[in-house]
Amino acid sequence: MSLTPAELARYHRHLVLDEIGVAGQQKLKSARVLVIGAGGLGSPAALYLAAAGIGTLGILDCDRVEVSNLQRQVLFGTGDVARLKVDAARERLESLNPQISVVAHAVELRAANVRAVLSDYDLVLDGTDRLSTRYLVNDACVIFGKPLVAAAIHRFEGQAMTYVPGRGPCYRCLFPEAADGVVPNCAEAGVLGVLPGVLGAIQATEAVKLILGIGEPLIGRLLTYDALDMRFTEFPVERRRDCAVCGDRPTITAPRDPEGPFGAAAPDSVRRLTATGLRALLDQHPRTHSLVLVDVREPREFVTGHLEGAINIPVAELQQRLVEIAPQASPVFICRSGSRSLAACAVALRAGIAAPAHLEGGLLAWASEVDPTLAVAGAG
Ligand SMILES: [Zn+2]
Repeated sequence: MSLTPAELARYHRHLVLDEIGVAGQQKLKSARVLVIGAGGLGSPAALYLAAAGIGTLGILDCDRVEVSNLQRQVLFGTGDVARLKVDAARERLESLNPQISVVAHAVELRAANVRAVLSDYDLVLDGTDRLSTRYLVNDACVIFGKPLVAAAIHRFEGQAMTYVPGRGPCYRCLFPEAADGVVPNCAEAGVLGVLPGVLGAIQATEAVKLILGIGEPLIGRLLTYDALDMRFTEFPVERRRDCAVCGDRPTITAPRDPEGPFGAAAPDSVRRLTATGLRALLDQHPRTHSLVLVDVREPREFVTGHLEGAINIPVAELQQRLVEIAPQASPVFICRSGSRSLAACAVALRAGIAAPAHLEGGLLAWASEVDPTLAVAGAG
């Protein structure tokens, strides 16, 4: 696929990079990328992919633009409110780059249509905020052998990981199962508007690198970003041989629609506790060693204020220090807002700890619902 004079002019800053050049730009032009979710993550990802010259860019979303989307979904303008997101997105992306083809999919992704939708694409970006869709996309990408760049955002924190068939773990290796509701979405929890800009741009970067075959993708590495601390942290993730979809003996061999809320939760899933739920649990099991509170914040945050009886193991040290948690104990991981504690659950699950729990909303939720005298370090 050769480049036209107009393309040679448009992509000049790519062409002068030795790692890209004309051959690389031709690869981008031949590439077919599907962005699932035209939201906070999908917006910056799609804009950069269109600008980069991805030849065929699919956008999948069945929602309409709402005024509350505009705080972060930079694909849309005020005049787009009430329009189908995919229609507004296609118009914006085609005006940015008329040399690419934008395909709109105004459908809800289900087990029944995921194969047909994915079959037109070489690579998938997942920007959905629905956990059930995230598992469906992950499973479909594993089963149909498509690379997947996934990201998720929560309040002030986000995470990203890349799956490449046969080269590393999938999302289900990290979080074996969780039902919708385990992680609150943006509407429930709120989100810093610029946060998905960072994560969506990381997804676009990963997609471009995979297409070009350059650099080191986020395979087997969960990258987390804390906007308040302005800190990136990386957690190694290994493929689970017992993973239900990418493992040695998979039990999920075809995409499936999610079961009802919590209906599909397996014994080795993450348990979420509300602040009042944890209070009740502590009242029932006061200071027994079956229940261990593990505060995974940094020591400087821990000293400002923490729950009585909690031990402090920063999440980055957790893997090495899991022995400090008694083998029979049920750990409840705690952090400021509930994001690092969720990452801690993933570490614990991989180490074979059954049903780790975390405090949803973190100590901020605890301070607002249970104990307003608790001092929680950090802004917000
Ligand atoms: Zn897996």
